[in-house]
Amino acid sequence: MKFCCDYFLLFIVLTVKRFLMGSEATKTEQEPYKVEFSEQELRERLTPQQYRVTQEKGTERAFTGELVNNKKAGVYRCVVCGKELFLSDTKFDSGSGWPSFWDTPTDGTVRKITDTSHFMTRTEVTCADCGAHLGHVFDDGPRPTGQRYCINSASLKFDPSKGKHD
Ligand SMILES: [Zn+2]
Repeated sequence: MKFCCDYFLLFIVLTVKRFLMGSEATKTEQEPYKVEFSEQELRERLTPQQYRVTQEKGTERAFTGELVNNKKAGVYRCVVCGKELFLSDTKFDSGSGWPSFWDTPTDGTVRKITDTSHFMTRTEVTCADCGAHLGHVFDDGPRPTGQRYCINSASLKFDPSKGKHD
């Protein structure tokens, strides 16, 4: 019985911890985004897949995105507004089937939002400028940050012209 209680307590502690960590990520959740596009423009400009992922929080199937195995030097931009979101220097092979990065260029590059859909508590990542859904961030990434930004290829536009190595 004691064994049971211990597990129950551990569950409570972890739940509370998750809740507290989650609320930290919600601070700026309600602020409006800097850039807005009309639905009509985006439907014309984006592919159906890009629209579904960025505007309707869709997820591309694992290992199907065109940038999963991209190892070229360059910048990954938001497919909706063009903002620089990730650098090739921080991309790593996570084995998850989605492009993965361990950091963003600056603190304000993406917005983190608590996502409780699909019976899970995760941290959604959106473009800080236009609000495009990008993917989720997890804390099981490599050093030095320990972060794993798990991002849909459909949210990104790879720009090889402006890498750190240029
Ligand atoms: Zn954007």
